[in-house]
Amino acid sequence: MKRIGVLTSGGDAPGMNAAVRAVVRKAIYHEMEVFGVYQGYLGLMNGQIQQLDRGSVGDIIHHGGTVLRSARCLEFKTLEGQKKGIKQLEKYGIEGLVVIGGDGSYRGAKALTEHGFPCVGVPGTIDNDIPGTEFTIGFDTALNTVIDAIDKIRDTASSHERTFVVEVMGRHAGDLALWSGLAGGAETILIPEASYDINRIVAKLKRGQERGKKHSIIVVAEGVTDGRELGKVIEKMTNFDTRVSVLGHMQRGGAPSAADRVLASRLGAYAVELLMEHKGGRAVGIERNQIVDYDIIEALAKPHKIDQRMYELSQELSI
Ligand code: ADP
Repeated sequence: MKRIGVLTSGGDAPGMNAAVRAVVRKAIYHEMEVFGVYQGYLGLMNGQIQQLDRGSVGDIIHHGGTVLRSARCLEFKTLEGQKKGIKQLEKYGIEGLVVIGGDGSYRGAKALTEHGFPCVGVPGTIDNDIPGTEFTIGFDTALNTVIDAIDKIRDTASSHERTFVVEVMGRHAGDLALWSGLAGGAETILIPEASYDINRIVAKLKRGQERGKKHSIIVVAEGVTDGRELGKVIEKMTNFDTRVSVLGHMQRGGAPSAADRVLASRLGAYAVELLMEHKGGRAVGIERNQIVDYDIIEALAKPHKIDQRMYELSQELSI
């Protein structure tokens, strides 16, 4: 291929810029031309497309968000929307597209590939919920953001002898809650993949207090229940002073961690390698620190699973 495009789509994630930079630099290094598509599939349909040179991605590796911006676009789920997108790509002579985003964005890439336009998916989401990779770009940064918040909450929780409920992102995937709960030493971790018993949580909180614990932290993924509601129930059942902190969108922002920058650089560059070999319809990922790629359709069909052993470990360590 001589000319490729790159877009970021769906929820933004720290490290997307590092991935865009890697795509652009790798392609130019191999004497290809690269076009940036702005605002995801919306911009693709509307022709918001611009050539990127090596300098255009300078000084972005350390910034969160995405310089290509992102959007959600319902029209792209329709055949007409997808055809509009392909028309724009053809107008610019673009032969392949790197799509950086979550599973919704992968579905768009899959649709384009099925219409004969080769796309490669790069996993960019803080949720870590993309099959075919152990880690997604943005997860490590978001995890560090949450841990930083938990550490701070712990200081104030112990000064006032309070119970804290910390609600983190994750509608369907509990990775962020599980990893941050484990790393933050939370007493209880609630994830969408596992059921919970409020009576057991309350009994554990009471046991903790009886043996002189100064505070308790409960990490809950947003997909489980509303953190505020959970806080009210716990306070009512325990009579303990309980506070709730909903971390919200701050989890999406911030400078990408070193791990995310490196991951994004490796995955972005590998996506270009696949397009250089005219391999479309692939999703790239990392497994056991090796870069891998899967058929994007097969990857989407696989359910994302929580690490069960890690979940059990979190319970063993929070007695
Ligand atoms: P994420 O990529 O973070 O999961 P979304 O689920 O919002 O975010 O998906 C991003 C965009 O991908 C959507 O706004 C839409 O334009 C496109 N998309 C999602 N699902 C499909 C689909 N089934 N077919 C085509 N495009 C899709």
